[in-house]
Amino acid sequence: MSDKVDVAVIGAGVIGLAVARAIARAGREVILLEREGTFGTVTSSRNSEVIHAGIYYRPGGLRARFCHPGKIKLYEFCRSHGVGHLNCEKLIVAHDDVGVAKLKSIIQTARANGVEDLELIDGRAAAALEPGLSAYAAIRSPSTGIVDSHGLMLALLGDFEDAGGMFARAAPVEAGEDLGSALRIEVGGDAPMTLECSLVVNCAGLYADQVARAISGLDPAFIPVQRPAKGQYFVYAGKAPFSRLIYPLHMPDSQGVHYTRDLGGQARLGPDISWDAPLGDYEVDERRREQFASECRKFWPDLDANKLTPGYAGQRPKTTGPGEEGDFYIVGPSVQGSPAYIGLYGMESPGLTSCLEVADHVTAIIAGSGA
Ligand SMILES: Cc1cc2nc3c(=O)[nH]c(=O)nc-3n(C[C@H](O)[C@H](O)[C@H](O)COP(=O)(O)OP(=O)(O)OC[C@H]3O[C@@H](n4cnc5c(N)ncnc54)[C@H](O)[C@@H]3O)c2cc1C
Repeated sequence: MSDKVDVAVIGAGVIGLAVARAIARAGREVILLEREGTFGTVTSSRNSEVIHAGIYYRPGGLRARFCHPGKIKLYEFCRSHGVGHLNCEKLIVAHDDVGVAKLKSIIQTARANGVEDLELIDGRAAAALEPGLSAYAAIRSPSTGIVDSHGLMLALLGDFEDAGGMFARAAPVEAGEDLGSALRIEVGGDAPMTLECSLVVNCAGLYADQVARAISGLDPAFIPVQRPAKGQYFVYAGKAPFSRLIYPLHMPDSQGVHYTRDLGGQARLGPDISWDAPLGDYEVDERRREQFASECRKFWPDLDANKLTPGYAGQRPKTTGPGEEGDFYIVGPSVQGSPAYIGLYGMESPGLTSCLEVADHVTAIIAGSGA
């Protein structure tokens, strides 16, 4: 015997919360199923909390398409819902002429992605903005900021519940079956249940591929293998030296160890990237301290490694491998063939920034106007 529910969203990270909110506000009956005891305890609370401008991503890809409009929607949402945020700006620094050529190419990519406000400045202008910074040249990104990710998720959950949505905690989706026009899922936990849904949206983050493979009848050709890429942070015990975020030149698979700070002014360095950690490994390797310090001394010469203490770690749900540029991978009925299933995979950075745009993309798929 199974209960019927119109829509089930699996996973209450920032993406699942934004998606569930958007579907509920469109007038559908929605249950949001979360494996853990509360929302947002996995990748959504293990990141840099940066509102990205939308600069680096391959033009035409989903990250490029979602980040810039997602950023605009996120600032607006934070303002209207009283979510803590700060439009603190960011500098991307170069240390020689080769680096300057890369900065110019970054500006071209950003323009192709709709980000028109980047400014190339010389080292002196950069140091005037941020005394103590060492740079030969830099890009200034005026629209970059930081956000209180927990406050954001709380506000999304509030809107979802106001729209009649039901949030089920400690409700892990363990199995399922595609029935054609509907999808049946088995939910474990303290109050096990079987739900027959006209639509299931899989927003299980790092576990999205495992969840999809546990649903029989979904075409495996459209379930990518996700590969976690761990990123560690060290926090700085001292006054935050810069008000803007400071980034080195990026690599294809990550933005490089950078300087960020939170809304309370706590400075941190990270994340690095490593590919060998098992899912759920959030240990910070103290032995990486000197490596972090030497990478960041290129732009912060006075950095004292003794003031760095292990902070926290997160894992990026990548669908690509080392040295490769990844992207979000979102499949709806017109792609994977099942009318009752939408899967969201590879929701790495800038997923936090893009959450509201991702949600609008999913509602467009449901309305039949998206892929
Ligand atoms: C190191 C790092 C730094 C980052 N920095 C930034 C940044 O500065 N800016 C930015 O925009 N983005 C950043 N990101 C990306 C951003 O954090 C993610 O894109 C975003 O948090 C993904 O949200 P999510 O909801 O998909 O995943 P999650 O937050 O992981 O949520 C998925 C949820 O699904 C639940 N779940 C899993 N399996 C099941 C199941 N079987 N049944 C029920 N529930 C289940 C989990 O418990 C979890 O709560 C960063 C990511 C990392 C790793």
